[in-house]
Amino acid sequence: MPGLPMDAALLTPLIQSIDALLPQTQCARCGYPGCEPYAAALAAGTAAINQCPPGGEALIGRLAELLARPTLPLDPRHGSATALELVAIDEEHCIGCTLCIQACPVDAIIGAPKQMHVVLSDACTGCQLCIPPCPVDCIRSVPAPFVWDEERAGRARQRYQARAARLERLARAEGARLGAAAAPHPAGAASRMADDCAAAVPVVPAHAGEVQKRVIIERVLARARSRARPRAAAAGGRTGSVPNASVPNASVPNACEPDQPGDPRPADTNKACAG
Ligand code: SF4
Ligand code: SF4
Ligand code: SF4
Repeated sequence: MPGLPMDAALLTPLIQSIDALLPQTQCARCGYPGCEPYAAALAAGTAAINQCPPGGEALIGRLAELLARPTLPLDPRHGSATALELVAIDEEHCIGCTLCIQACPVDAIIGAPKQMHVVLSDACTGCQLCIPPCPVDCIRSVPAPFVWDEERAGRARQRYQARAARLERLARAEGARLGAAAAPHPAGAASRMADDCAAAVPVVPAHAGEVQKRVIIERVLARARSRARPRAAAAGGRTGSVPNASVPNASVPNACEPDQPGDPRPADTNKACAG
């Protein structure tokens, strides 16, 4: 790659200059777990300038100018530029598992275990990363009532960085608790943030998401059945009915209970679960 600055003192401002151009939807479609990690890869010369579908051709032109690289068409392997769509949660079917909160890179979903979850539409970037993990498919795309602009991008960057800082604090606290304080990252803060976000934002292949959903649904139903049997026996031996996850306030097992062996869920990085 031409003209690559290898000095860390030059690299950090360059990462910031590149990051300032990126859309900040944190959608991971570029193949990196957020805009800043992609900016770091661009600055290091390990990523191409045509991997960001939300930025489209206009972003490619700006990156080509900034990095003195030849312009390229958008790489179709990363998708195409599409209209901004936010998401909404179907309150009637949400089982309060919190998986969407864990997937959201900008903390745009609020809720607690076994409680209905809600999307903060003003904070949502439309990244759609919360949709695949939902075990009951109750998150849907909705048209965005606004245009994505620099002000929204700036707010999304702040929320992303605040979340990364929180995850780092949690990781340090956990490391201290285990008596193994985290060593400084050998490649600096930007790389640490990239690593944290890589751990926190599950970029789940489509087939893996389906497997995860199936396993989670089966586990929820199994727990529900095991709890329904003693209640049925206590009620006089009638056959117990499984609590209906689609009924609001139904007795649904807490998906934030301690992991079971073979649990497919991501590590507990969620403040609602950490509770
Ligand atoms: S907007 Fe999405 S695809 Fe573009 S740099 Fe940010 S995370 Fe990557
Ligand atoms: S609510 Fe869903 S679509 Fe919106 S920012 Fe969070 S993960 Fe992305
Ligand atoms: S992943 Fe789906 S079911 Fe679980 S809390 Fe989020 S919206 Fe509700």
